[in-house]
Amino acid sequence: MKINSLYELKKHYNPILLILFTIISILIIDYIVYITGGTSIAFTHMMYIPIIISAFTFDIKGGVGVALLAGLTLGPLMPLNVSEGMMQEPISWILRIIFFVIIGTVTSLLFQRIKLDKENEVKKLFINAETGYPNSSKLKLDLNEMVNNKENFTLVAFKILNYDQVNIYVDYEVGKKSVLKVLEMLSELFEKRNIYSVDTNEMVVIMRKCNVQDAFRKAQEFLSLFEEPTFIDGLPIHLVIQSGIVNFPLHGKGENELFKNIGKTFDQEVLYKNRIAIYENSISQKHQENYAIVVAIYDAIKCNKFTIVYQPKINLSSNNVMGIEALLRWNNDIKGNMNIGELIKIAEDAGIISEITKWVIKNAINQLKVWQDEGINTKVAINISPKDLQDDSIIEYTKNCIAMSQIDPGMIEFELTERAIIEKRMKLVLDSIRDMGLKISLDDFGTGYNSFIHLVEIPIDFVKIDKAFIDNIKDMQTGFLVKGAINLVHNLGKKVIAEGVETQEQLEILKNMGCDNIQGYYFSKPLPPEKLKEFILKYNYEQISL
Ligand code: C2E
Ligand code: CA
Ligand code: CA
Repeated sequence: MKINSLYELKKHYNPILLILFTIISILIIDYIVYITGGTSIAFTHMMYIPIIISAFTFDIKGGVGVALLAGLTLGPLMPLNVSEGMMQEPISWILRIIFFVIIGTVTSLLFQRIKLDKENEVKKLFINAETGYPNSSKLKLDLNEMVNNKENFTLVAFKILNYDQVNIYVDYEVGKKSVLKVLEMLSELFEKRNIYSVDTNEMVVIMRKCNVQDAFRKAQEFLSLFEEPTFIDGLPIHLVIQSGIVNFPLHGKGENELFKNIGKTFDQEVLYKNRIAIYENSISQKHQENYAIVVAIYDAIKCNKFTIVYQPKINLSSNNVMGIEALLRWNNDIKGNMNIGELIKIAEDAGIISEITKWVIKNAINQLKVWQDEGINTKVAINISPKDLQDDSIIEYTKNCIAMSQIDPGMIEFELTERAIIEKRMKLVLDSIRDMGLKISLDDFGTGYNSFIHLVEIPIDFVKIDKAFIDNIKDMQTGFLVKGAINLVHNLGKKVIAEGVETQEQLEILKNMGCDNIQGYYFSKPLPPEKLKEFILKYNYEQISL
């Protein structure tokens, strides 16, 4: 057992032994006072020792009680001078008792005060300041105790998946209240003392003596409460909650392993409808694989193992290639031809996305320079991840690349999704990108919240209508939406690019709607640089020869 302080020590000793120790020490001091000649010698002051110890161990009652007892034993029966048989004046021993009682009272009050401060300090360490519920440190402490007692239990974790979106799209206050609301709803279904607020948007419930199946049913019951919107500050908010389950002793030996594994369940595949994952050991394999990929990413950047393919965008009025989009490709030993969305996600999670983005910027600009020297002029669009814009380093890096290659900045475009541009401070970042002379496209338009509001608010040049809309463009409602979006974009003085156009029919519909530019397999898949050059030469030539 670890004993961290004197106060913890206090919890562990035997009170009977202490009382005996106190009485014996009083008697010993009485004896010392007597054999050293009586109360005229300073040994009476030794009595402060048992008084202070009792004030510490038994608080005020102990302090005052022992002070009285000690004072009395040194009182009327104890001579002032033993050899001369001289007794004490009553005033002398009464005053001594009063002093002893004062010392007993004051020291016990002081000890109580220190104890209270210490308890508050400890409480703060174990409480989540935002929610007032016990935090992850307290959870680990309690788990440790339960594991030591070999109790069987199941942990159920809940995470508000769209917490960031609620913060950004609705309001930070509402985001905060949504966490409190979920905690409040949890305490209606589970025992409050078993609920922990482990992270901003994550909570864990300990279900004692409960197996995985019962925990699953209970989690299901809780999640079903969120099928309908939850009202926060009168606003109907659709909270998306995911749950993970870890059992002791099935899924971990100690508190650290259990805590780590409950976090990992959020990375597991879940049944869409249930949104509950029971811990599987195979996910640690997934983590190992992701780690290997992160290591390989560094190597790919250093040794230029990534490649870029370029997909042309066709202007419908001139029938020319109006620009190209740089799309990353990576063939590696772990995954083969890796899905780029998966790569980007891993790099974003590992915090190394901007290293990849810089690699793409540098190589795309170098390629542009090569083509320019060969007489081919085209604009290149580069995909920028939301995390890239969290600091200025990408902008500075692009500036340097442009300066070194002496490319016209107007030939470079950044493609940003709505996810990247919604934060208010982004307006400044976007302004600085445009001040450099770069163009900006709003990528995947229509897939975020409040897409139309962003259109009006942010400084952009192009809007790329997401492939999902183009896929369903024959559908009347989707058609209306796309037509409306095109008109709005035009009214705002910006241009439209339709993404993922695959058929002649889609192309015709978009043409009739007044769409400006088309990107998609109908014209070309993304191509390696030499093929892209052929495409531009052939395509522009063919159009001219028509
Ligand atoms: P995105 O920016 O929306 O890029 C368009 C994706 O749609 C590309 O997939 C492209 O190959 C595909 N595509 C284009 N036309 C068609 C079509 O007609 N039909 C179909 N079925 N697909 C079409 P890709 O290259 O797999 O890229 C997927 C996503 O990965 C991109 O979506 C982009 O968000 C991201 N990405 C790609 N390269 C980079 C990069 O260098 N940096 C960052 N941050 N993200 C990148
Ligand atoms: Ca894009
Ligand atoms: Ca897109």
